[in-house]
Amino acid sequence: MRVLNAGQFAEYARRQIAAADEILTRHGRVAGDLCRCERPWPCPVAASCVSMREHYRARMAVIEATMRLPVVGTAPVSRLPVLRRLVGGLVRAVRWQDR
Ligand SMILES: [Zn+2]
Repeated sequence: MRVLNAGQFAEYARRQIAAADEILTRHGRVAGDLCRCERPWPCPVAASCVSMREHYRARMAVIEATMRLPVVGTAPVSRLPVLRRLVGGLVRAVRWQDR
C-alpha cells in the first residue's frame, strides 16, 4: 500500500473534489422529484458525489490547518500568540465538525 505525504494527499483530494464537481454538473434536482439524469431525486450518483466531496473537503481542512505553508511574510512577535489561538481554534472547529 502506498502512503501519501500531506502534499500528495492534498493533490489527490483536490482531484477527487474536482471529479465530484464535474459529475455533479450532470445531476441536480429538476421539476418535481427528478434528477437531471431522470432518476428519482436525490439520485444515488449525486448523493455519493456530495458525500465524497464533503469527505475530502473535511480532510483538506485538517491538512491545510496542519500543513507547513511557505513563508510569505513575517508577523511581529507580539501577534504570534493571537495567531496560535486562531489556528488552534480552527483546528478544534474542524475536528468538532468531523464528529
Ligand atoms: Zn442524478
